[in-house]
Amino acid sequence: MSATFIGMPGNFPKNSAQAVQNSQLRYNLRKATHTIRGKRASVVGELPDWQELRAAGKAIKDETLRHLDRYLLQLEEAVTAAGGHVHWARDAAEANRIVAGLVKATGEREVVKVKSMATQEIGLNEALAAEGITAYETDLAELIVQLGDDFPSHILVPAIHRNRAEIREIFLDRMEDAPPGLTDEPAALAEAARVHLRERFLRSRVAVSGANFMIAETGTLVVLESEGNGRMCLTLPETLISVVGIEKVLPTWRDLEVFLQLLPRSSTGERMNPYTSTWTGSAEGQDFHLVLLDNGRTDVLADEVGRQALRCIRCSACLNVCPVYERAGGHAYGSVYPGPIGAILTPQLRGMGSELDASLPYASSLCGACYEVCPVAIDIPEVLVDLRAKAPHGAAERAGMRVAGWVLNDQARLAAAQRAATRLRGLVPRRLPGPLSAWTDTRDLPDIPEESFRDWWEREG
Ligand code: SF4
Repeated sequence: MSATFIGMPGNFPKNSAQAVQNSQLRYNLRKATHTIRGKRASVVGELPDWQELRAAGKAIKDETLRHLDRYLLQLEEAVTAAGGHVHWARDAAEANRIVAGLVKATGEREVVKVKSMATQEIGLNEALAAEGITAYETDLAELIVQLGDDFPSHILVPAIHRNRAEIREIFLDRMEDAPPGLTDEPAALAEAARVHLRERFLRSRVAVSGANFMIAETGTLVVLESEGNGRMCLTLPETLISVVGIEKVLPTWRDLEVFLQLLPRSSTGERMNPYTSTWTGSAEGQDFHLVLLDNGRTDVLADEVGRQALRCIRCSACLNVCPVYERAGGHAYGSVYPGPIGAILTPQLRGMGSELDASLPYASSLCGACYEVCPVAIDIPEVLVDLRAKAPHGAAERAGMRVAGWVLNDQARLAAAQRAATRLRGLVPRRLPGPLSAWTDTRDLPDIPEESFRDWWEREG
């Protein structure tokens, strides 16, 4: 089974041009995103106060981010008082070092994992493998991705690019205890995974998780999931290590009420998640470690426009409505965060030093569908435009913008330019020459009218 991982680091236009050639991928994506989109619209429509809830979610997150230092210290104090241990990680390398050290200290060489974007962001599985520790993903879609040597392509449904025939093939090829007569019926595939994972749950003594939320006032962590694998990982092992981004903190339990309504409806299109697990510190003989991850988040917080990306609760609603994501798929973004949120979060977390990261703010038509559905009202188009202004630009583009600025900033110059354009309209080519042709390869140049509005106004006035 070959991996579908699309050439990273490339850039978004190249990666997506390659991805749209794959008609099976486009079919899988369209079917899956439209199904989730429909479910979301229906359960969101049930709540007459959805917009108020959305405004409350935004307000709680903004207030928390404004006083993040205070809430994180309060959280640390509460977790410690409840017998847990708190570790602070500046970046991915430090977080990976901490987790590997904690696992080694238990004498174990394998861990079970609950689905977690933060651990994917820091490449934890690979870092643990380098230390001789095997990490087993237990979320069904993450298991499919891991067995297929693949790369996640959706925040909520990492194997969204796979159909059930492909999943059967992966299981038969890579899962040693897959039944030989396995069919591609969803129930049969789920049962094969269940049997495979149960043995791992029962023998593993260390688990690694993320968390959807952390409550500062009590030191409680919260995980929402649908399969029950999270509950098994969080409760059975003797040591639990949770790696969580610092922006996931909420001040109080009352705040959680808002997000327990916003998140399931926006992500899986359900009124509530089948499993909501909460735990506070070390309980019933389980040793608990919380690794608080920065990894670029404080830099994002310092940006007045971009900081709203830290409100994200990883529901993936913006992916499911994005016309660009639906066609390009998640791999084209070259990051664990694909789709509209990835286009604004990745360049902020990693910077725009690479060709790929500098291309991400352009991975959007700016249609605004992502903003409409976002449960915490992140104005993704606003951040995209801001990032485009900050992205590196070629010499020709910079020169072109300088000339445009010079013309547009002066009435007389603009009028002269409009008259010249009208006179020369017959000479304007349909395709621009040289490097500028990249613009007209995918767009039509607008027709220049015979008379400018300014001239018409003067004539008629
Ligand atoms: S940006 Fe908004 S819609 Fe997209 S994943 Fe985050 S919270 Fe959900």
